[in-house]
Amino acid sequence: MTTLKGEDEVAGLCRDLIRIDSTNAGDNSGPGERAAAEYVAEKLAEVGLEPRILESDSRRANVVVRVEGEDPSREALLLHGHLDVVPFDADDWTLHPLSGEVADGCVWGRGAVDMKNMDAMILAVVRQRLSEGRRPPRDVVLAFTADEEAGGTYGAQWLAAEHKDLFEGCTEAIGEVGGFSVSIDDARRLYLIEAAEKGIAWMRLTATGRAGHGSMLNAENAVTELAEAVGRVGRYQWPVRLTRTVENFLTETSRALGIDFDPDDPEATVAKLGPLARMIGATLRNTANPTMLQAGYKANVIPQTATAHVDGRFLPGYEEEFFQTLDELLGPNVTREFVYHDIALETGFDGSLVRAMADALVAEDPGALAVPYTLSGGTDLKAFSTLGMRGFGFAPLKLPADLDFSGMFHGVDERVPVDSLQFGVRVLDRFLDAC
Ligand SMILES: [Zn+2]
Repeated sequence: MTTLKGEDEVAGLCRDLIRIDSTNAGDNSGPGERAAAEYVAEKLAEVGLEPRILESDSRRANVVVRVEGEDPSREALLLHGHLDVVPFDADDWTLHPLSGEVADGCVWGRGAVDMKNMDAMILAVVRQRLSEGRRPPRDVVLAFTADEEAGGTYGAQWLAAEHKDLFEGCTEAIGEVGGFSVSIDDARRLYLIEAAEKGIAWMRLTATGRAGHGSMLNAENAVTELAEAVGRVGRYQWPVRLTRTVENFLTETSRALGIDFDPDDPEATVAKLGPLARMIGATLRNTANPTMLQAGYKANVIPQTATAHVDGRFLPGYEEEFFQTLDELLGPNVTREFVYHDIALETGFDGSLVRAMADALVAEDPGALAVPYTLSGGTDLKAFSTLGMRGFGFAPLKLPADLDFSGMFHGVDERVPVDSLQFGVRVLDRFLDAC
């Protein structure tokens, strides 16, 4: 087999994946991930692997393959990336989101940030290693999933429920969203590694009252009842709860930035973090945002029911407090049910896998400081964690200081520098040597 060079291949792999439309609108109406899965499977088969394409529904395809390690008696590591992307409005973009064009040193397109970049980096590093006959020290399972952007019903959730056997022995996992740099100054960069995720509670609220004529007295008006409850939820100031990951992040980051960290007033520290404040601020507390309202059908008819939707997010360790508080805010006359509910995650920032990530970063960027952070959203890791894995978001990218990377997730003009992708391949290669 000819030797493949991951650094040379990675931008092309990323471009090819971006050109394959795998948008996921969340209603199973899109093109699906089948074409992207076939592409990935072909690239893996070229280096002697035997990937399986697993369809959960028509064209909703996942790819799973095991790369045998030097010591199969050791526990296995999962590397996972999703193949779907969120929809786009091409008119808003400078370059077409499916172009995968390289311009200004960046690969452009939907998925360049979330997360065809990492899919390409995984492919590039695995192809290089196998073409050189370098197996990882232990079994590494690769999973390229469908449907992450809509909760993983056709992807990770389905794989974890229906194909557990493929993940036999996996105790640790690496995926999105983390490993990217945030510049402190010219010489030093923080690399944010995801070690925790908030839980998700999307809920439908319902108030039921007495229907009747809009001209009559009515003390049991469902619209009034619901509106008051929604107002209480939306205006509530959730208390700051400092989890160990957030405390660890603020301690390390403050030290690096040379600012004071007062654990009794973490908000003051977060306020000094610049563009990171938006991302980190949401991990200081539970949140519940009203997002939809529905009631009534005519101006002079009081409807019997009124409903609203709330997007709730709770910190690891604070789910019980979240629902207790929420129920007090809703009061006795408004009921809630889940539209979507998923767990919060948190793992310690310690152990040999964390050392392997931090060391690989420093080897490629002497100014690197790896810090753990909490993601305010969710990833496929929630599903894989149900199989007994601890996991991290680690898609390593050394980025230019002025690139607003976290702002490009699901945003317009998503793009990733080619040399950042090449850096990621080198870091992942070192990481796999040490994993
Ligand atoms: Zn993603």
